[in-house]
Amino acid sequence: MEKMRTENLEKVRQAVNVCTMCGFCKSVCPSFKAIRWDPSAARGRVILSYGLLVGDIPADDSVVENIYTCTTCMDCVRRCPSKVDVVEIVELCRADLVKNGHILPKHKAVVDSVLKNGNPYNEKGTMVQRLNVKPKNAKVGYFPGCSAAFRTPETANAAMSILKKLNVDSTVVDCKCCGSVMQRIGWNNDDVVKMIKENVGAIKKQGVETLVLSCAGCFRMFKEEYPKFTEMPFKVLHMSEFLATQDLKLKPLKAKATYHDPCHLGRHAKVYDAPRNVIKKIPELEFKEMANIRDQGRCCGGGGGVRSAYPEESKKMAEARLEETAFADIIITACPFCVSNLRFGMPDGSKKRVADLTELVNELL
Ligand code: SF4
Ligand code: SF4
Repeated sequence: MEKMRTENLEKVRQAVNVCTMCGFCKSVCPSFKAIRWDPSAARGRVILSYGLLVGDIPADDSVVENIYTCTTCMDCVRRCPSKVDVVEIVELCRADLVKNGHILPKHKAVVDSVLKNGNPYNEKGTMVQRLNVKPKNAKVGYFPGCSAAFRTPETANAAMSILKKLNVDSTVVDCKCCGSVMQRIGWNNDDVVKMIKENVGAIKKQGVETLVLSCAGCFRMFKEEYPKFTEMPFKVLHMSEFLATQDLKLKPLKAKATYHDPCHLGRHAKVYDAPRNVIKKIPELEFKEMANIRDQGRCCGGGGGVRSAYPEESKKMAEARLEETAFADIIITACPFCVSNLRFGMPDGSKKRVADLTELVNELL
């Protein structure tokens, strides 16, 4: 058996050795709950990474599948008493798998599309062209993200409408994909960094001082990852953070609601209060928290490239999250990707609504 080249995993050789196999991570791992197979839990993924690193196991289909059914939700990292950064290990392991030619065909198609079209959906044209808006110079820039621009334009239109209603000097920024999907999949960093620099250059050119984003994945990318590779000449805010600072006069809404923390907004970027503070501004809304919230919020199952490559597993994770929402008429969240996956997990004929916070605020403003 030829040992796989593991330049990326080498960086975490020590980390893959400190797992004590306590299994605490298994108790929270959403993919383990969906797949019920030990290698699909955080602990299993650390063992597989170690096996690849030392050359004890081959990168066969089952290993690839178990490394790629991780949603990068980070709940295991929160739970781990030994502080094992499972997400970092999984992403470096993916980078090594890709380098050795083990890329899933669905992920290869996504990457090819990002490189060719600037979006992962094989759609022609840019985000601004798709949304039919003219970018200009303004103090506040809105980055729709590929999901809102190409799949849920109602979210992007709601964000633009809010900025207009609030008389904010704003523009949509003329950017390509934020690069998150390529980074989560393990594609080579040079391409990701090139996109990062191009996007920051384009935003800078439009004179933007504050960038607002409605997608949790794109937000995390700009807030946490971009500064690792380039200087950021503007402030980065999630739409919920921006809205929390505004004097919103919202119409009342008689309904029972709850809030789902997107992993990339919550655990990854620590934004928990802002969306809740915006929801509090809705008169007459009866708000109740789910059982697992904030840093313990359970994943919707849509992230980490799982939805595109393993939709059935993604759906099971969404169904598990939705079990916590029995009391609510509306499940509010703050990411178009979570909206899409929670809707995917909703039983047929359900009367419950999964609403993006940006859309809901626009309706009531
Ligand atoms: S990041 Fe989430 S899905 Fe991945 S191993 Fe950890 S708990 Fe499981
Ligand atoms: S919680 Fe941490 S130490 Fe325990 S099994 Fe999981 S990764 Fe290993």
